[in-house]
Amino acid sequence: VLEIRDLHKSYGALEVLKGVSIAAKKGDVVSLIGSSGSGKSTLLRCANLLEDSQQGEILFEGEPVTWRGKGPGRHPADRKQVIRIRTNLSMVFQQFNLWAHMTILQNVMEAPVTVLGEDRHEVETRARALLDKVGIGDKCDVFPAQLSGGQQQRAAIARALAMQPRALLFDEPTSALDPELEQEVVRVIKALAEEGRTMMLVTHDMRLAADVSDHVVFLHQGLIEEQGPPDQVFGAPKSERLQQFLSATV
Ligand code: ATP
Ligand code: MG
Repeated sequence: VLEIRDLHKSYGALEVLKGVSIAAKKGDVVSLIGSSGSGKSTLLRCANLLEDSQQGEILFEGEPVTWRGKGPGRHPADRKQVIRIRTNLSMVFQQFNLWAHMTILQNVMEAPVTVLGEDRHEVETRARALLDKVGIGDKCDVFPAQLSGGQQQRAAIARALAMQPRALLFDEPTSALDPELEQEVVRVIKALAEEGRTMMLVTHDMRLAADVSDHVVFLHQGLIEEQGPPDQVFGAPKSERLQQFLSATV
């Protein structure tokens, strides 16, 4: 579904990604772990073209992003392609970013209706089903401020699913939550993994990464330091930096 080859990204003189390659096939759950500042969020944001990058390829369903220009001056050339990729790689952020002035149902319906131009009634049926699925079907008509953090994040996940994306990108979906609320979001993410959804997940929750991932990638200072199946990455880490990172996070 998504393939990134040798991606380089700098903010001015700061080189954040120094040649990262990563791929998620259909049904794969790929987790990104690593210290603060290692480039995890940047990688996700580059993947769905929220950020430009300077070098390397991004392929969505085998189709490479076309660029205009080269190096620091390059940017995606085809606006329709950007929209197609962005709507197919729905992102869920740490801060749920729900629209405060809209009800939960309106939040979930907004993008399919306005961006994709879908029929309002069909979208509403789907939105209600998704809110049921994440366990807040009774909260359709309330505003985000009336929900707990865990409920808001589940609403944000329903909103991402409403776009019927090919893959979900999660950036620390549980880090803003109290431990007891974290679990209700973890349960939803696990259920999505079991359904065979394609996902890229940045997380500080090593237990979640170990439970849901097919593949775990450890980023260190903008490079992949080690990667592999969760048993290997968590059970038998080879790199000293990964060993240090894991012992510091437990
Ligand atoms: P965390 O675990 O804290 O979320 P991260 O691995 O997600 O960290 P990134 O957010 O990708 O790290 O940031 C990588 C580096 O890029 C950091 O040094 C950060 O300061 C820098 N950076 C991120 N966004 C910008 C920006 N918009 N402008 C300049 N520098 C940025
Ligand atoms: Mg981050």
